[in-house]
This record gives sequence, C-alpha cells and structure tokens, in this order.
Amino acid sequence: MPMPEPGPRLSFEFFPPADDTAAIRLWSAVDDLAPLAPKFVSVTYGAGGSVRASTLKTAKGIQSRHGLDVTAHLTCVGASRDQIMAKAWGLSEAGVCEVLALRGDPPGNKTEFRPHSSGFGNTCELVSALKDVPGIRVRVSAYPDPHPDAAYAGADVDWLKRKLDAGAESAITQFFFEAETYFRFRDACQRAGIDAPIIPGILPIQNWVTARKFARRCGARVPDWLDSAFTKALRDGDGRHDLLAISVCTELCSELIAGGVEQLHFYTLNRSRLTRKVIHALGLSTAGKPIGNVGKTRLRTGSGAGKAVPGAWVPPNPAKSRKGQNLASVT
Ligand SMILES: Cc1cc2nc3c(=O)[nH]c(=O)nc-3n(C[C@H](O)[C@H](O)[C@H](O)COP(=O)(O)OP(=O)(O)OC[C@H]3O[C@@H](n4cnc5c(N)ncnc54)[C@H](O)[C@@H]3O)c2cc1C
Repeated sequence: MPMPEPGPRLSFEFFPPADDTAAIRLWSAVDDLAPLAPKFVSVTYGAGGSVRASTLKTAKGIQSRHGLDVTAHLTCVGASRDQIMAKAWGLSEAGVCEVLALRGDPPGNKTEFRPHSSGFGNTCELVSALKDVPGIRVRVSAYPDPHPDAAYAGADVDWLKRKLDAGAESAITQFFFEAETYFRFRDACQRAGIDAPIIPGILPIQNWVTARKFARRCGARVPDWLDSAFTKALRDGDGRHDLLAISVCTELCSELIAGGVEQLHFYTLNRSRLTRKVIHALGLSTAGKPIGNVGKTRLRTGSGAGKAVPGAWVPPNPAKSRKGQNLASVT
C-alpha cells in the first residue's frame, strides 16, 4: 500500500509567560501542540526587557518537557554586544541550537531604532557574530509586506539577502493575510538569488480588533474584504468571529500548500485552540496519527508541578480547584 503523502511540517511560536496565569496558559498550549510533532518551536524575546531572561528558561523548559527543537529569539535592543553574546553562549551551552536573530524594536513609543552605545548596529552584525558560537544555526525574519523601515520597494528582499549572506540559514516571515503576498515576495527573493527556506508565518486571528491594530503597526497590509468580513462577524456575534478566523486561516494555508510551501509557522499567542482547529481542517496528520488525537494532554499538577514545567513556576495543584478540568479548555 502506498504511503500517504507527508504534509508540510509545522512549527509554533510561543512567548515567555509574565506571571503565573500566563504560565498556565503557555504550558497548556505547549502540551496541546507538542503531539503534532512540530519541526521546531520558537520562543520570543521580550521587547520591554522584563521577560528577556525567560526566553532561555522557557526554551529549556519546552526542550526538556517535550524534547522539541527550540529556536530562541534574540534582539539587538538595549544591550551591549557582550551582553547579547553572553546570552547566545548561554543558549548554546543549554543545547538550544537555533537562534532567530533580530534587530528588534525600540522600547516604549519610540519608533526609530537606535543601537546601544556598545551594541550591534543592525541584524547583519548580530548574525555575523553568532557564527562564532558553537552549535548555533541562525534564522532571520522576512517581510512579505513592506516593513515600516523599508527605504524603497524591494528593500526587504535586499536586506534579507544581506542577512542570509552574513550567515543565516533560513527565514520566518511576518504574518500576512493573502497567499499572493507571500508568493510575490518568494518570487522576488528567487529573482534576487535567495534559495534559503522562507517559512511563512501564519496568524490564526484570535481577536480581529487587536490583530488589525498590530498589522497596521508592523506593516502587514489589511485587505478591505477581510476587514469587512470580520466587522460583520463581530456584529453578528454567535461565535462567527472564530468560525471566520478558522476558515480564513485554513484557506490561506491551503493556498500556500498548493503553491509548494513545505513548512507553516503558527503564531500561537500561547493559545492552541484556533491553531489546532486550522491544522485539523487542513487534514494534516503526523506519524500516522490523526490530528483529532491531540489536545488530550494535561498540565502535570500537584507537588511535582514545578519540576514538570521547568520554564515557569506553576501554582500548586491548579487543576484541583477546577475539579480536574483539562486546563487547556479553560484558558
Ligand atoms: C518572525 C519574527 C519574529 C519576531 N520576534 C520578535 C521577538 O522575539 N522580539 C521582538 O522584540 N521583536 C520580534 N519581532 C519583531 C521585530 O523585532 C520587528 O519587526 C523589528 O522592527 C525589526 O526587526 P528585524 O530583525 O526583523 O529587522 P531587520 O530585518 O533587520 O530590518 C527590518 C527591515 O528594515 C530595513 N532595514 C533595517 N536595517 C537596515 C539597514 N541597516 N539597511 C537597510 N535596511 C534596513 C529593511 O527593509 C529590513 O527588511 C519579530 C518579527 C518577526 C518577523
């Protein structure tokens, strides 16, 4: 009997939790999505400074809890070269073998990136420096819609080439809403001689109002049809927002897969529900197991909870007060 065609590989982005409630949400999402055997998961690096230390902790936690490959994000913001490189060495020593090297955004309401007085001036400098760290492979970001700092049309393609030439091996894109946006960018990259994998970043829309605000800030173009559809779904209520989010995201992923995409990177925002539903709707399965089998893992609780979740402290026995409910279903 012929083996079924393997679908595209999956990967998931998480962010470090800022408090105990967020930690419960994070680990529920991780536990829910890990059975999908992602190629890797990535852990963001806080822009504001407060959760930066948790990137390593969270990355190590996911690694030891599920044995997954983790890509740790690292930015150039607010730290000297030595401080950033110390973090990179710390990741390498902890066995985190992939870094997503980023310039980052300035903290607060500032719009213009200003390097730290003894820091990296841009992403290419960081990528070059990371070549000296043993065992680290470097990914970078890519922007199918123009990044707000792009000086001219095509600047994002040229800059991506510079980052790859500096030593990065692959790129993950900012989210976008139409497959055509990704394909246009991929074609432009191919014309520029880029042959590294460009993994599309997929945002299942959990809250349209927030997603639209964020899209405008980071330069992702919001199509009028999508805005109208979500505005109507929100007005109609009755769960239509989530139904629309699932169908729009599934359609986007289907078009990407039909266009030859071999990897989908989901921005989970530490919630598994919509991502799982989209993956289910796409009919993707792993290791012969239907996707429907996922979501049955539970946070380990009780006296060993702190050990079971190394990235963050988990309140003792959180399930007890909820009468043994699966925590994934209450986040
Ligand atoms: C996949 C992904 C993950 C992210 N994770 C995080 C995170 O964990 N923490 C966080 O704080 N932020 C994160 N961000 C957001 C990111 O920090 C912002 O988008 C930031 O504004 C740009 O950082 P970058 O490394 O992508 O920039 P770059 O790719 O270096 O620059 C963005 C664009 O600006 C222009 N540009 C910048 N510098 C130059 C230059 N010297 N010469 C010419 N053109 C230039 C180019 O057009 C370039 O494409 C992430 C973004 C993506 C896409």
